Amino acid sequence: MNVVLLGIPGSGKGTQANFLKKRLKLKAILTGDLLREAVEKGTKLGEDAKEFMEKGDLVPDQIILDLIEEKIKEQKNFSGFVLDGFPRTLTQAEGLDLLLERTGKSLDYAIKLNLPKERVLKRLEGRLVCPFCEAFYNLETNPPKKDLLCDFCTKKLIRRSDDKKDLIATRIQVYQKKTEPVEDYYQKQGKLKIVDGDAKADLVFERILAVLKK
Ligand code: AMP
Repeated sequence: MNVVLLGIPGSGKGTQANFLKKRLKLKAILTGDLLREAVEKGTKLGEDAKEFMEKGDLVPDQIILDLIEEKIKEQKNFSGFVLDGFPRTLTQAEGLDLLLERTGKSLDYAIKLNLPKERVLKRLEGRLVCPFCEAFYNLETNPPKKDLLCDFCTKKLIRRSDDKKDLIATRIQVYQKKTEPVEDYYQKQGKLKIVDGDAKADLVFERILAVLKK
């Protein structure tokens, strides 16, 4: 099964992508994580992406499409993929369809996690990530079991540098302008499923599984 997750920043896509990876053995491809890793390592990709990410803007489509192509082609021994943070523009959505056609694959669902904009700020302010294994947490919806430490590798959890108020507002605007048309694109293809994301992470996951079983 091949799935795309859509939703404004803070709607819980990363957490749900990881749940889907574990439960359905899907390969999770998180463009934001891949880009942050590239920036940290100082690779060519990281250098190209950094200035856009720092402004809360989107990295150019062709850079992202090349990255996705590489990751999808790497896919072996998985029963499909879940994409988080991609596609974020119509060009990327069309590029994905062409890429899948070329590789004999197709997309089954685009799941949109619905979350009122007013809730996002609170969510993002409570968002934490493990710098080591990149597990996601949220003090409100998916807290770590002990203090502010990762459940899996016990490292101290950190906040993302772009989870700052002014950048959050920009990222939401960018979503509305550039990514909402992608929702319509999948609606027209009959692949869009809307899931209420305003709940604890495990409940949202049950809702996603219910949609996938239909
Ligand atoms: P995320 O972790 O998904 O919120 O992504 C963090 C940042 O990485 C975004 O604000 C963008 O600058 C960049 N980014 C991630 N995915 C994409 C994409 N599909 N297209 C363009 N830029 C992206």
